[in-house]
Amino acid sequence: MTKPVYQNFINGQFLGNQSGATFAVKNPATDEVIYHVEVADEYIQNAAIKSAEKGFAHWSTLTPIERSRILLKAVNLLRTRNDELAKIEVLDTGKPWQEAECVDVQTGADVIEYYAGLAPSQVGQQQMVAEDFYYTRKEPLGICAGIGAWNYPLQIACWKSGPALAAGNALIFKPSEETPLGAIKLAEIYIEAGVPAGVFNVVQGAAEVGQWLTHSPDIAKVSFTGEVGTGKKVVASAASSLKEVTMELGGKSPLLVFDDADVSQAVSAAMLGNFYTQGEVCTNCTRIYLHKSIYQQFIEELKTRTEQNVIAGDPLDPKVNFGALISKKHQDLVMSYIDKGIAQGATLLTGGKTLSPESAPNGYFVAPTVFIDCSDDMTIVKEEIFGPVMSVLVFEDEEDVIQRANDTHLGLAAGVFSQDIKRAHRVIHKLQAGICWINSYGNSPAEMPVGGYKQSGIGRENGIETLDHYTQTKSIYVGMGNIESPF
Ligand code: NAD
Repeated sequence: MTKPVYQNFINGQFLGNQSGATFAVKNPATDEVIYHVEVADEYIQNAAIKSAEKGFAHWSTLTPIERSRILLKAVNLLRTRNDELAKIEVLDTGKPWQEAECVDVQTGADVIEYYAGLAPSQVGQQQMVAEDFYYTRKEPLGICAGIGAWNYPLQIACWKSGPALAAGNALIFKPSEETPLGAIKLAEIYIEAGVPAGVFNVVQGAAEVGQWLTHSPDIAKVSFTGEVGTGKKVVASAASSLKEVTMELGGKSPLLVFDDADVSQAVSAAMLGNFYTQGEVCTNCTRIYLHKSIYQQFIEELKTRTEQNVIAGDPLDPKVNFGALISKKHQDLVMSYIDKGIAQGATLLTGGKTLSPESAPNGYFVAPTVFIDCSDDMTIVKEEIFGPVMSVLVFEDEEDVIQRANDTHLGLAAGVFSQDIKRAHRVIHKLQAGICWINSYGNSPAEMPVGGYKQSGIGRENGIETLDHYTQTKSIYVGMGNIESPF
């Protein structure tokens, strides 16, 4: 059967490229090509800029409340089409339906709804200066670019377009070449909701299309989600035209479990923060530091629950809670880290192998894996693996574990489990990470700013401050008297 071919989405409609170049997208759970996508060639790139210029000229003149009304219609459509969109995410990413059905579309819609609500409340300042005064206006930046990763494709498109559009900008969004369909569906929804053509455009392709976006002098800002190494290239390229940048990058986040913690709760957090979305979550707590006194209890419960409760298989089966990794290449990379862990002396508590479940025998599965006997200098403890691989470490002293947890160039997230509220807050304040949880892990509501310390990122997504990052401040000085001039 011939597979569909999706074109780029420009100026409110699909637009064919001139080069004829396409790429194939596979379902990670079946290893089958599910559709093809046209690459954004030079013709598409030029059309995208023209389209966004036109979209911006119209959209930026609407009042915030008019924009808000339209965006809320899109939110409603996203929620109404939850199941159709969630299925696209399952087929593109290999994640379980169980997750996509209640998280991916919902959390995307939440963020657009949040910024639709916030946009009309954005105000400038005014201040008297003797008899004169000045006031400020929050003006949109113009054309912004969004570049997405493949783990939460639709959610990332919503998290970038929500604040960008609410503030009056136009956006050219490039999804990951592994997962291009969700963004196209979002583009259709925006048009149906009444967002003018050209305000949200989708261009498709891999690094070279991303490079064009980051280099283009017509684009005012780039918001990027992806690996640290790619983020550095994006910042360097964006510097050529001094673009604003937001960088949502990788992590190697610690979870500290103290002797007074509720151990079962901490095990739940560690499993969520390593095995949810089969381990492909940027904030994952892949370094679990256990106080010596609860170590045995923790790893016994962790082993039992991992071996009994994780159900790998066809991600569309609602009973399955553990899906396939994004690609064969990524599966090989994760397995190579597991091999390094073993070679460097860590002990496998469980997992450590690929899986071939009966309902999805050709999928790129890696078993939920836990390493014990880890030390801080091992590769599996230092580098982001972006798969279901947890490293367990032991500590005795609070100051020592804080120092070890911070001994990394990354700083995306961190967690503390302790019933002692003074200790929990004291420790979390000392951890060098932008997204922190106490007696919890992974929740990320639209209201809460998220982003990394150190090399895990620049700027924030979500929360009030992000809207400011999609605007620029214009100051206007008003003279009320005569000008004093020596000339
Ligand atoms: P990646 O860096 O390989 O690719 C991300 C995007 O960048 C893709 O769309 C890709 O086509 C594009 N790209 C590649 N090279 C480029 C270049 N030179 N210039 C411009 N664009 C380029 O990342 P990935 O493998 O898609 O995603 C996994 C990574 O994303 C992990 O490191 C993960 O931690 C991170 N991530 C971070 C967050 C966060 O919010 N901090 C969220 C999700 C994923």
